[in-house]
Amino acid sequence: MPELIVNLEPAKEFLKEQNAKTVIVQIPEGLKTKTTWIIDELKDSCETVFVKMDPCYGACDLPLNDMQVLNADTIIHIGHSAIHKHKNIFYLPLSYKLTEKEIDANISKLLKELEKRKINSVALIANIQYNNYLDEIKKKLFDNKVQSFVGKGSSRISGQGQVLGCNYTVVESVQPNVQATVYFGDGYFHPQGLVFSTEKPVIVVNPLHGTVEEISEKQRDRFMRKRFAAIAIASQAKSFGIIVTIKSGQRQKEKALELKKTIERKGKKAYLLEMDLVVESYMTGIGVDCLINTACNRIVLDDADNWKTLIINPTECLIALGELKWEQWKPDEFMH
Ligand code: SF4
Repeated sequence: MPELIVNLEPAKEFLKEQNAKTVIVQIPEGLKTKTTWIIDELKDSCETVFVKMDPCYGACDLPLNDMQVLNADTIIHIGHSAIHKHKNIFYLPLSYKLTEKEIDANISKLLKELEKRKINSVALIANIQYNNYLDEIKKKLFDNKVQSFVGKGSSRISGQGQVLGCNYTVVESVQPNVQATVYFGDGYFHPQGLVFSTEKPVIVVNPLHGTVEEISEKQRDRFMRKRFAAIAIASQAKSFGIIVTIKSGQRQKEKALELKKTIERKGKKAYLLEMDLVVESYMTGIGVDCLINTACNRIVLDDADNWKTLIINPTECLIALGELKWEQWKPDEFMH
């Protein structure tokens, strides 16, 4: 099984360069077992080391408010690459260590799947944990007569061929050239997002489990039927709650204010709801017909079924209000 590499040396160097006095270290859930080790490792590079124990959902969720409250001068964000660059924030992405043998075994399964589908040109993408293997994978595919394209994303994306759950611009940039998208990574969070963004097949190579599978055909229809049903119900709503998060990379206050104006222009009621973590249980008894989520789009796309109140994304709201056509549906990616 491939192992995750956690090398704190670059973080130590950054703290020394910054002459940091107080740092907040933000870690992914999977690294909580290393909390005390991280503090022990960093304590010689910075006088006061805090590890933030709240859940962290990505580089969109930086502890900027904590920084002020605790008078910290630096943040080390472990696990994701930069969305927004700040001079006193250091991002330490984590990668899996894959051997040549493991890469070859995955490629051999992938080639069989591509041959079965008569596919010889693909968009090649990965999440951050596998992104540094894309060049090598591209070369190996080329040696086997499969052309692959590694796209460049919008400003929210740090590396070529890298996807976020809310941004698939690397795939969109190479769509005309390819017959399918091949994703290297574990879990379904990213590939499910891809299904919303491309109508071509999505093939998932999971190096942790050594599996290769196509997921798009199974899911796209079922998913779109649900979203269109939600929009149809929202078109009958008389009152809307517009959710705005304060999370650093998910804030969309201006978009929320524009939506409020549009809703009111249609003779309906709109209320602004401000929060940090957007979860269903905080909305108990809210008393609006429909919620509009301007935070992470995946809250709606993955989890709307678990909300007691109807919840939709901004584009869906504009369709429900008759401002956009149904065929203009899009997954409300974050571009910046
Ligand atoms: S906005 Fe959502 S999908 Fe995008 S990085 Fe943050 S948590 Fe992930």
